[in-house]
Amino acid sequence: MAALEGKKAVVTGGSRGIGRAIVERLARDGAEVVFTYASNAEAAAEVEGTVKAEGGIAHAIQADLAEPGAAERLMEIASERLGALDIVVNNAAATFTPAPIAETGDELFDRVMTVNARAPFIIIRYAARHLRDGGRIVNISTLNTFRPAPGITPYAASKGAIEQLTAVAAQELGPRGVTVNTVSPGATDTDLLRATNSAERLRMVSTITPLRRVGEPSDVADVVAFLAGPDGRWVTGQNIRATGGLG
Ligand code: NAP
Repeated sequence: MAALEGKKAVVTGGSRGIGRAIVERLARDGAEVVFTYASNAEAAAEVEGTVKAEGGIAHAIQADLAEPGAAERLMEIASERLGALDIVVNNAAATFTPAPIAETGDELFDRVMTVNARAPFIIIRYAARHLRDGGRIVNISTLNTFRPAPGITPYAASKGAIEQLTAVAAQELGPRGVTVNTVSPGATDTDLLRATNSAERLRMVSTITPLRRVGEPSDVADVVAFLAGPDGRWVTGQNIRATGGLG
């Protein structure tokens, strides 16, 4: 039997990049997955099609997590669609243009914090109330919380917050057998990475990474699948650095 046969999963930001790889991997492992996209309906439909072609089930839901009420609505729709949930992956993150603190406005700070920290908080709170015993929560952070970089204040602040949400939720939900972990990717080849780094910088990152390349989305998705599956049962409250050794 597939490792996640009969499990029901929600993944935010599943239309592209790391989230897409997570949706496809969880579905391959047998889970039925609801995933979100913000605006890219075409990419989301492509993911649904890929999963279907591999014999799995994934449903795309549009949800801009910057909008008030979107996170609650998403979880209610996912529960109506799937019934009781087993796995929640907070992966979506807002895109932003890096800028020094001195040039970072309130609006950008608020938007990034809303998508990357407030929405995951609401989703974790929903999971705390409704996730089946023995469930799994995986939150995606970044190597930038332990390897700081200039120009990413709201992003780094929001990821610091999600790591703390993980730590506290693991304490609270452990008695129900629910594990809560963070996965912190290093540089991973996605639209977000290319939007925020020059080609020259990416070459430099490869040379200082012990495994001598940037990551692929599947490098991160495989770690998430381990934590979401039966083999991850004894791991909770951890921050797993999927960085090729960088950091
Ligand atoms: P990506 O390629 O930019 O994909 C982002 C995903 O999030 C898309 O599915 C997008 O939907 C969705 N999204 C964007 N804004 C949203 C919003 N306001 N509400 C809801 N969904 C939204 O990103 P990625 O590189 O795969 O990153 C995935 C996660 O890994 C993020 O948490 C990121 O911080 C983390 N991470 C990435 C790297 C890296 O090098 N790539 C490194 C460290 C950490 P649409 O397709 O509709 O736009």
